[in-house]
Amino acid sequence: MDNNITQLLTELGVKLTDYQGQDIASISPIDGKTLATLRAESTEQVKAKIALAHAAFLQWREVPAPRRGELVRLFGEELRIHKQALGKVVTLEAGKILQEGLGEVQEMIDICDFAVGLSRQLYGLTIASERPGHRMMEVWHPIGVVGVISAFNFPVAVWAWNAALAFVCGNSVTWKPSEKTPLTALATHALFMKAVARFNATGNDAPEGLAELIIGGRDTGAHMVEDKRVVLVSATGSTRMGRQVAEVCAKRLTRTILELGGNNAMIVAPSADLEMAVRGITFSAVGTTGQRCTTLRRLFVHDSIYDTLVPRLKKIYAGLPIGNPLEKSTLIGPLVDQAAFDAMQTALAVAKQEQGLVFGGERVSVAGCEAAYYVRPSLVEMPSQTAAMHHETFAPIMYIVRYSDLQQAIDWNNEVPQGLSSSIFTTDMREAERFMSDIGSDCGIANVNIGPSGAEIGGAFGGEKDTGGGRESGSDAWKAYMRRSTNTVNYSNSLPLAQGISFDI
Ligand code: NAD
Repeated sequence: MDNNITQLLTELGVKLTDYQGQDIASISPIDGKTLATLRAESTEQVKAKIALAHAAFLQWREVPAPRRGELVRLFGEELRIHKQALGKVVTLEAGKILQEGLGEVQEMIDICDFAVGLSRQLYGLTIASERPGHRMMEVWHPIGVVGVISAFNFPVAVWAWNAALAFVCGNSVTWKPSEKTPLTALATHALFMKAVARFNATGNDAPEGLAELIIGGRDTGAHMVEDKRVVLVSATGSTRMGRQVAEVCAKRLTRTILELGGNNAMIVAPSADLEMAVRGITFSAVGTTGQRCTTLRRLFVHDSIYDTLVPRLKKIYAGLPIGNPLEKSTLIGPLVDQAAFDAMQTALAVAKQEQGLVFGGERVSVAGCEAAYYVRPSLVEMPSQTAAMHHETFAPIMYIVRYSDLQQAIDWNNEVPQGLSSSIFTTDMREAERFMSDIGSDCGIANVNIGPSGAEIGGAFGGEKDTGGGRESGSDAWKAYMRRSTNTVNYSNSLPLAQGISFDI
């Protein structure tokens, strides 16, 4: 397979000429070169696409859910066939190492499998009625057009988490991907259209407009969010973006799923298996070059093991293979762009002002990629949890603080505005249970003996507070993509009122 983006896109079924323009540049973080320039959709085009998606919803909701699941199954097959090519486009456009690009596509396959099973399990409850000869039940119905906004760092998986569930739930989907990663979105859309063609070739009728792709920047996304026909906005990105989207949606009283910034911590307790902890810390802190919402950003290490663990981490950090993410030996690819590099340097300067001891963080030159931004991931030993540590800097900075009392470490874990992921390494059952209990971590994800990053699709994914409160992916997250109807059926010959009310006419 070639690294040439045009060839890869052609292999995936993208006709780039249909999208060419001058509004948006897709720049590879690998070497800073422009991969393609595209046009952004106009306000009229956004409206037209939403209109198509709405018309598609009106048809799609009548297709039985297991048939809807068949389309998602076929999409999963297309992803399996084209995993290598799509994974490589993710690497070229988002800069993550190929293993992670492929992992992202695997996540899409996994959620398709989950959604196919779900298409036969959109269960409602039956409820005991207080009245004789009555039955109560809940039925789940499709809701309409789901608008998905996604971030650059998971350019395709986040859409799949939403779309696979939305489709089996009977909805249509409009997608505004990150302006930094439009090509991965075009490739994903093309694969979905291949699945639609196969679905329709076997006597089905997936309506035109079921999946619409809206290319553009923030303004384009804002147009989608404002449109009343979009009944659920699922937005993944920064907390700043989430606040803007939430305000618009609150004004028009529509639903949101918000998956926003994280500031994730790990506690390493005295009884921790340090070999496992070192692996868990390293992957969580430096994987995807610190550009995951679940990246480990704050490490609280017990006093008794601090002087053993921290030097080991420094040794590992000093030898991390940093380089072109297409090369097999590379574990640390580039930052997405100069703005990310500048933000990292600013955060490190602030940490120094707050008495932090900075290790690493410098720019690294990679042959042939001089215009890109490669860095050595940074460890920063802090005297305590300072103000700087309350912010998410989307770069590989891990602050480390000593603790002596577990309650102090849990309080620090919870003190920040974000509430996405957290973890503890301990072999002490009491500590582990306390961390996961009502008085423990306040995050949407609380792990024991694994790092905070790298979730599986089977669980509900999301976080509290400034992370937005949304849940996506597994467990019962599908309920957010449907409306619940409560039905009371009277099969008796009289009309008793609830609460025993007498109302004789
Ligand atoms: P970003 O907020 O800059 O952009 C995300 C998306 O929102 C883009 O598609 C952008 O065009 C769009 N957007 C921005 N403002 C908008 C507005 N007012 N109306 C409509 N759309 C708007 O984020 P980013 O830099 O691409 O991604 C990094 C951030 O995303 C980090 O904070 C990271 O933690 C977060 N993130 C969160 C999760 C999660 O599941 N919680 C997952 C991935 C990334």
